Amino acid sequence: MITSSDIAKILGKYDLSKLAIGTLGSHSALNIFKGAKEEGFRTVCICKEKDAIMYRKFPLVDEMIIVKDFTELLKEALQEKLRRLNVVLIPHGSFTAYLSTEELTDSLYVPMFGNRQLLHWEANRKEQEEWLRQAGLRLPATFKTPDEIDRLIIAKLPGAKGGRGYFLANSPASFYKKFKAMVRRGLLREEDVGRIHLQEYALGVNVYPSYFSSIIKDDVEFLAVDRRYESAVDAIGKIPASEQLEIDVTPTYTIVGNFPIVLRESLLPELMRMGDSVHKKARELAPPGIIGPFCLETVITDDLKIYTFEISARIVAGTNVGIGTSPYAYLKYGAGMYMGRRIALEIKEAREQGRLGEVLA
Ligand code: AMP
Ligand code: AMP
Repeated sequence: MITSSDIAKILGKYDLSKLAIGTLGSHSALNIFKGAKEEGFRTVCICKEKDAIMYRKFPLVDEMIIVKDFTELLKEALQEKLRRLNVVLIPHGSFTAYLSTEELTDSLYVPMFGNRQLLHWEANRKEQEEWLRQAGLRLPATFKTPDEIDRLIIAKLPGAKGGRGYFLANSPASFYKKFKAMVRRGLLREEDVGRIHLQEYALGVNVYPSYFSSIIKDDVEFLAVDRRYESAVDAIGKIPASEQLEIDVTPTYTIVGNFPIVLRESLLPELMRMGDSVHKKARELAPPGIIGPFCLETVITDDLKIYTFEISARIVAGTNVGIGTSPYAYLKYGAGMYMGRRIALEIKEAREQGRLGEVLA
């Protein structure tokens, strides 16, 4: 486990006047790089050759490091290069999708913006649920085995898979039938059955509020809200019910993009209290709590109950809808504020106040 004194030692050798912001080239990297540039940082992109076109067409990257695979981030030579460039890494969805939690907490000797200890709480579904429950949030019920299913549930394979391989069932029989169908279609494997998480399906609309927990300002800011555009579930409504029955569709939730949302104003106070209490609980579990961006994945039902089914304690790609400005970032900061820039601003203020050690882990 990399400790804060390891990171302090690395930072001690950094030229802080040349601090650079780096991340893996995917997910929310454009958001992060644009924010870094606007706050006056140099940027470093660790990128696959096939994706480099994007980081060349948008003029946001000062230093491009081409890798075959994102796991190269674990190699000492690459880490040494990043440290020489005075890089602070900004973790996003691809870090947890392509590297394991252990690799991130034990083998990445480059300062990261965020709280490494919280990665464990986030990666483990049971611990994550415990965290959210203790923070007083409303969660969908969960079921230990398929044989306990007594209502509509959503079956999820662990890991940030963008909803690929998720399916719905309302009884043990329908679970096994659909599971087999998913295996036949190559979306799941036979041995996945024991790893599937069974969660009550909350019937309502998806709402993903994004927050920024500022250690420097000691505040949890409410910055943006989005929803997802998912294939095939968002396409099913386009075909009539009779055709749906004929082709026996199983909805899947592969993420393709996001939409911004402006919420009914009376929903905001509760969402703000939820953000505050999630951070407060995190501070007890792993001090100093959440550092920087986090997002609650919620469903709001027609009686306006807010169910939270997941937390991401890092920037989510849904904040890309706010590149430039989101209405809520505007209310707080005026024009030109968004998650990528908010991250860079926090790092800049921490540096000015000699408090970098408090926001980097
Ligand atoms: P990618 O590099 O596009 O494969 O994304 C890395 C991880 O982030 C994958 O697990 C994706 O499912 C997830 N991801 C990418 N884009 C989004 C998005 N717009 N919303 C939610 N999750 C995303
Ligand atoms: P996830 O990968 O956990 O973010 O979930 C992908 C999608 O599945 C979400 O965007 C929702 O559309 C749906 N979903 C996940 N969990 C639930 C739930 N408990 N109730 C209703 N819909 C859900």
